[in-house]
Amino acid sequence: MEENMLTVTQNDLEPIKIDITKIIQVYSGIDGACCCGCSGKHTYMKSLQAKASKERGYPVTDDECSERTVKMIVNKMNKNSEKIEEEVDFYSLVLGTRLYVAYKNL
Ligand SMILES: [Zn+2]
Repeated sequence: MEENMLTVTQNDLEPIKIDITKIIQVYSGIDGACCCGCSGKHTYMKSLQAKASKERGYPVTDDECSERTVKMIVNKMNKNSEKIEEEVDFYSLVLGTRLYVAYKNL
């Protein structure tokens, strides 16, 4: 019980900030919809294209890579850091009708 309360207090004091250098890809789509890409868009870091291709099982193409888009979405999430949810392998944030996800490079 006491441990749980301590965790909550620490989270309140220290809002989550996503470190872009630890992100492999981002997702921007409609909240509550499927995350495969049919209701939104995945964008990958160009520098991690080969790794992302391997993990996905088929090639991540050049037009799916944009460091600029990844930065833009991570910045948008960090501006609303109090609403960011952190999971083991990704961060997520709902803003209005949009869902943003930043996947960690693990
Ligand atoms: Zn889908």
